Amino acid sequence: MTQNSSIGHGDNVFIDGQDLWSDLMETARFGGTPRGGIRRLTLTAEDRQVRDWFVRTCEELGCTVTHDSMGNQFARRAGQDDSLPPITIGSHLDTQPTGGKFDGILGVLGGLAVLRALYRAGYVTRHPIELINWTNEEGSRFTPPMMCSGVFAGVFTEQEVLDKRDRAGLRFGDELEAIGYRGSEPCGQHPVTAYFELHIEQGPILEAEEKTIGIVTGVQGARWYEVTVKGKDAHAGSTPMPMRHDALLAAARMIEAVSTVALSHAPTAVGTVGLIENRPNSNNVVPGEVFFTIDVRDPDDAVVQQMEAQLYDLLPQIAERSGVALEIVRIWDAPAVHFDPVCIGMVEAAAQESGYGARRIVSGPGHDAAYMARITPTAMIFVPCLDGLSHNEAESITEKDAEAGASILLKAVLKADAVFNNA
Ligand SMILES: [Zn+2]
Repeated sequence: MTQNSSIGHGDNVFIDGQDLWSDLMETARFGGTPRGGIRRLTLTAEDRQVRDWFVRTCEELGCTVTHDSMGNQFARRAGQDDSLPPITIGSHLDTQPTGGKFDGILGVLGGLAVLRALYRAGYVTRHPIELINWTNEEGSRFTPPMMCSGVFAGVFTEQEVLDKRDRAGLRFGDELEAIGYRGSEPCGQHPVTAYFELHIEQGPILEAEEKTIGIVTGVQGARWYEVTVKGKDAHAGSTPMPMRHDALLAAARMIEAVSTVALSHAPTAVGTVGLIENRPNSNNVVPGEVFFTIDVRDPDDAVVQQMEAQLYDLLPQIAERSGVALEIVRIWDAPAVHFDPVCIGMVEAAAQESGYGARRIVSGPGHDAAYMARITPTAMIFVPCLDGLSHNEAESITEKDAEAGASILLKAVLKADAVFNNA
């Protein structure tokens, strides 16, 4: 047990940072890539391996492990009053095709470190504690992301998710059966008291400010659009400049406008064009059609709405000036998520008591916690990752920060245990 991680609550309940790190390295073998990352797409053989490991390891710590109809796994440690709905901790063990060792995994194995700390100290919480491994958070093999916490929170129906297909045409429900993790408990029929999620930041802010803990207050609002610009294919040698209808040139001006719009709401707003298709994409043809996507986000829904209004104003002007036709379709609208002030306060107090450098932060990416926040008091804890890098095989964190994050998770859970359902 490391000595520098002492936790005041429950007398002698400690996170063992070395054991947490060795769990991270051990499970990284399931789908491990030569470049040090993990390829562990949901409902594959590698996913089954890490799930089996999760069951074994949690059972060794005295937990009962079950899974529901979406394959979400629950490792339950009994409480003094086992009739209380559990305080839950969760994240995901699936990864992107070239994912890192920590995105999601730190949250589950950090939760496992909490269970281990309680087990070793012989400390029985008032509430049962449950550690959740959510199925298909990444949305890489089957879209959308956060699929099964979404079913749990009533955002998607079970049937629509079971019928999703991957790019090879394989059906989610069949693949879940095939790895042996389709349970009988209907997803969502599982009352909870509160939910905490530890995650790497996946951005550069904590590292830049040399903070160890991010007290996550919510997830920013996001909207996605698909844009089609239609001009006219023409010969690059013989079509005079004033007579062109160059879809790519118009798109370039629009991409610049997306950036300008986001910068007009600095420093919080972001705007991104990350996907573009140019047709016919030939070196001596004036491009006749371009398709691209826009992703805009801000913690404040009103700002997201303003950015949309600006784009719907500016892009048609650019189209007209460029002699092209324009079609914009909004394909996704995720309102900002605001976590529970009481749970946020527990994370903040835990960070203060522990003496870690901490700051409040809004999550850029979505997380399972965003859906859990719809049905239960929820908060998240971030720890820094090297260069803000994520969804990348080079994703990296320090052992010390992993331990710090799990320690704050433990403290927050113990605070929640003391405060919630108090007669
Ligand atoms: Zn994640």
